[in-house]
Amino acid sequence: MINKKGTLEAGWNFDNSYSHLPQLFYAHLNPTPVSSPHLIKFNGPLAESLGLNAQALRSDEGIETLAGNRIPEGAFPLAQAYAGHQFGYFNMLGDGRAMLIGEQVTPLGERYDIQLKGSGRTPYSRGGDGRAGLGPMLREYIISEAMHGLGIPTTRSLAVVMTGESIIRETYLPGAILTRVASSHLRVGTFQYAANRGKAEDLKDLADYTIHRHYPDVGDSKDRYLRLLQEVIRRQAALIAQWQLVGFIHGVMNTDNMAISGEIIDYGPCAFMDVYDPATVFSSIDRDERYAYGNQPNIALWNLSRFAESLLPLLHEDAQQAITLAQDELAVFAELYYHHWLAGMRAKLGIGNEEQEDESLIEGLLGMMYKHGADYTNTFLALTFGQLENLAMYGSNEFTQWYERWQARLSRQEETKTSSNDLMRSSNPAVIPRNHRVEAALEAAVEQGDYSVMDQLLDVLSNPYAHTSEQADFAAPPPKSDVPYQTFCGT
Ligand code: AMP
Ligand code: MG
Repeated sequence: MINKKGTLEAGWNFDNSYSHLPQLFYAHLNPTPVSSPHLIKFNGPLAESLGLNAQALRSDEGIETLAGNRIPEGAFPLAQAYAGHQFGYFNMLGDGRAMLIGEQVTPLGERYDIQLKGSGRTPYSRGGDGRAGLGPMLREYIISEAMHGLGIPTTRSLAVVMTGESIIRETYLPGAILTRVASSHLRVGTFQYAANRGKAEDLKDLADYTIHRHYPDVGDSKDRYLRLLQEVIRRQAALIAQWQLVGFIHGVMNTDNMAISGEIIDYGPCAFMDVYDPATVFSSIDRDERYAYGNQPNIALWNLSRFAESLLPLLHEDAQQAITLAQDELAVFAELYYHHWLAGMRAKLGIGNEEQEDESLIEGLLGMMYKHGADYTNTFLALTFGQLENLAMYGSNEFTQWYERWQARLSRQEETKTSSNDLMRSSNPAVIPRNHRVEAALEAAVEQGDYSVMDQLLDVLSNPYAHTSEQADFAAPPPKSDVPYQTFCGT
């Protein structure tokens, strides 16, 4: 749409519900302007689904908005307050380098936070500079869009602008701002903050706001806060099972990085596992392996326990009864998680019905994968496409026996061979964002200003269940190296 001045309108349609929460939940301020913003990445399809005009956002005026230099009409920029357990230790935190610009209400009536990450200092910045580097922001762009392609609930990436300024880390890095889109940025840590800093009313306001925004079916019954806890536990159980099924390692599952909406949030040192090993850790700062692949379900439960703790005053007026209610709900997590994981594993093996012995069939496969150092993703691909000779354990007696057992199992279901194989194709991705591919894309972009490598990677990752020949080229595991792959927090 063209406005009176003859410029294209971007299509912003803000409604800033979070700003109606009590003042202690945020600080109202503008992003710190940057010297010469330059748009380098823009997500056209996402813009369209948000009701935004790509052409307008790509214009100079649009880029000024994506850089935080210009505040669009109807926006109400704010930094959110939150707390969190970081590697098990409690801290007061908050958006130290991000700002919520506003909540965009889409043509379909959905509400999304539009957040600028790397937008300058806020009252919650502590010692930090409030800025972000180009590499880490592009990394978040790639992995979040890959997760979306995999069909896993996640925050999305709308744009990356270079600020024209350098930031100081170990060396000078080009500064950048990512426009992040999330169904909200409410975190477990937001509730911890309310419970620690707020009055009883503040916690209640936050919980009611959350129910209204994310769990409207919970309604306004007297036991609604218990139902909220139940629903958050359910969504997390489903989410974490999906991580495990694709071999995703978040890397920094602090309670401030767990979203109440059930989306993945805060892509820092995350990475995908190549060789199957539950102890896999990539993050350089995760020295105790707290956030190892195999530990993610336990940590999710630990985080949810902190969420439940924060809610205790709302669960029952009697403290002891509140604890019992919370514990009963938390006790369900393991079962819910396992149910999702098992269903997903059956699908990965083309199994459409349920049998008791499926668990041991799956465990048998994982055990062999571990023993033979098999690539997680490619093992399932080889089984899907019958390329058994590609398997690390091919030729071993235990594999031959396992294979016969699996084939016998497949014959004990009503699904035809074709539908069983279709199930495998749609449950086993052809491609994941392999660490070496992500690094190559980032290096070309950051060192040479060449975005073609990243664009090609994003393209194959956008529909990982297509199983095209181009994707097959991206399936190769990393070349063998003596140096283990490490990721850094990217602040
Ligand atoms: P993260 O590790 O990205 O989840 O961040 C943890 C906390 O540190 C959050 O409160 C961030 O806002 C804050 N933070 C991270 N990087 C910076 C930075 N460069 N400047 C200010 N605050 C930061
Ligand atoms: Mg964070």
